[in-house]
Amino acid sequence: MTRRQRAEKVIGALREAIPRPETELEYVDPFQLIVAVILSAQCTDERVNLVTPALFEQFPDIRSMAKAAPEEIYPFIKSVTYPNSKSRHLAGMARKVVAEFNGEIPDTLEELMTLPGVGRKTAQVVASVAFDVDALPVDTHIFRVANRIGLTKDARTPLHVERQLKKVLPEEDWSEGHHLLILHGRYTCTARSPRCDACSVPPACKYFDRLQRLPDPIKGLSKRKGKYFCATREHYFDEPAYQTDRYGIQQVACPRCNSMNVFETKTGRSTKQIPDYRVGR
Ligand code: SF4
Repeated sequence: MTRRQRAEKVIGALREAIPRPETELEYVDPFQLIVAVILSAQCTDERVNLVTPALFEQFPDIRSMAKAAPEEIYPFIKSVTYPNSKSRHLAGMARKVVAEFNGEIPDTLEELMTLPGVGRKTAQVVASVAFDVDALPVDTHIFRVANRIGLTKDARTPLHVERQLKKVLPEEDWSEGHHLLILHGRYTCTARSPRCDACSVPPACKYFDRLQRLPDPIKGLSKRKGKYFCATREHYFDEPAYQTDRYGIQQVACPRCNSMNVFETKTGRSTKQIPDYRVGR
């Protein structure tokens, strides 16, 4: 299966599973959206949605926020991550929008990225959600999910993921694909333990395929004889050797024969690790 075919299947399956692929941030206009997106950097949408109602009551538009000092914004956002720098960014962003864009949130990536607190990802989210610009911002969920499923190959940075995804997804699917992958990563393909049993993607998922190819657990191993069991030489041992596999992962190996066909005696499970990207929240 090519990556383009894989992407088509994955997006198709996610469309069925996620009927409303849209941001979970609450906002009513581009001003509220840009504020919420700035606040959401390394913070949950849930937390941001808790603080924005009072913030927007105090600062209902860009001009009122532009008049505020960061110290006046801080009390409203102190429970989100990095409140000091985000207060400064919000005040600076609002001032610049009033001074240079006549109080209108700009609608191009280039202009958005000139605003304090607005990097490439934030600019793409605002442009895509508020102004329907075809954009594909990559956050921690998309980074993990795209790599895990195999929509990207050896993509080590969000920009690599973005570039590779843009090659395998048609441009008209970028914005929708962005929301589908985020929501999938947030609720199903989670960082620590992906819920493969509740997922609609398995036939197209590389990670799932590799999981299926792991050897079945061995029943009846004796813990007393050693921590590990080498199924190649059929003996127990406590101190493993290590071998690096073709994915660059350090695997437990048999100290006698270097085989990686090793099982934990406590659980009976293979010690083999498969490539994954367990980053982010
Ligand atoms: S099958 Fe598992 S790893 Fe693959 S996308 Fe679904 S939840 Fe994620």
